[in-house]
Amino acid sequence: MAAENAKVVLVTGAARGIGLATAQKFLAEGWNVALLDIDDENLHRTMVALALPERTLALSCDVAEADGVSQAVTRSAAHFGRLDALVNNAGIAIFKPLLETTPEDWARTLAVNLTGPFLCTQAAAPLIRDSGGGSIVNITSISSLRASTLRVAYGTSKAGLAHLTRQQAVELAALGIRVNAVAPGPVETAMAKAVHTPEIRADYHDTIPLNRYGLEEELAETIFFLCSDRASYITGQMISVDGGFEATGIGLPTMRGARRNG
Ligand code: NAD
Repeated sequence: MAAENAKVVLVTGAARGIGLATAQKFLAEGWNVALLDIDDENLHRTMVALALPERTLALSCDVAEADGVSQAVTRSAAHFGRLDALVNNAGIAIFKPLLETTPEDWARTLAVNLTGPFLCTQAAAPLIRDSGGGSIVNITSISSLRASTLRVAYGTSKAGLAHLTRQQAVELAALGIRVNAVAPGPVETAMAKAVHTPEIRADYHDTIPLNRYGLEEELAETIFFLCSDRASYITGQMISVDGGFEATGIGLPTMRGARRNG
């Protein structure tokens, strides 16, 4: 049963994956949660599985559609009466060579991964301010920090989101809102399973110092921390939750021989 004055978070892309794990973490910590997703069917399944109708709200919405976002955020505010945090997690990955990436691929990736967090933040910030201030977390990616093949649209959208995080942090501080980013390395989710072949998976294991993919729950812990009062002086930052992947600037295969052999 929800406490009357429980804090409220809105998580986008919450029907599955990192977004769902994040929603579950906030629920475990006593918050109420608005779960926003474009996938109605899966969102419905998730709501049934969570089985917490008094503490959750399903919002069917495309984060790239300004009117829909505005209506969803207004519905959440009317339902819960406050908003304390926003997690801009919804994202899509279209991995293609640069020369095969169509204008539609490019536009949709930018619309969901970059315009979506812009629109959601613009709609949510006044409500967070009116609730006494709070926090926003944008989910970027290791691809926002490192270029690689096949990620011309995805990586560029996430690098844009990393800078949007700083822009938002600087302006929204005056409203009592902290804004940070979490950059996951590879995480065991449906998205990763769809785009990572067995060969890619083996390469990731080889390259990541902790020698494994991250868990959705490990991302949720960091996201929750940034939204909590424990992070009260942190804003405009990006935390990589990546098993040390970002640190391996010169992670040459031949120099990892010791681990591989022993
Ligand atoms: P996922 O595909 O498992 O889940 C994403 C959710 O977002 C889905 O439920 C989907 O329906 C929803 N969504 C997609 N487009 C939407 C839209 N336009 N409006 C509303 N909802 C939409 O993905 P995930 O692996 O959990 O990834 C979550 C975030 O983490 C994404 O932003 C992704 O780019 C980022 N990320 C993931 C990984 C990884 O390895 N899984 C690595 C780095 C970054």
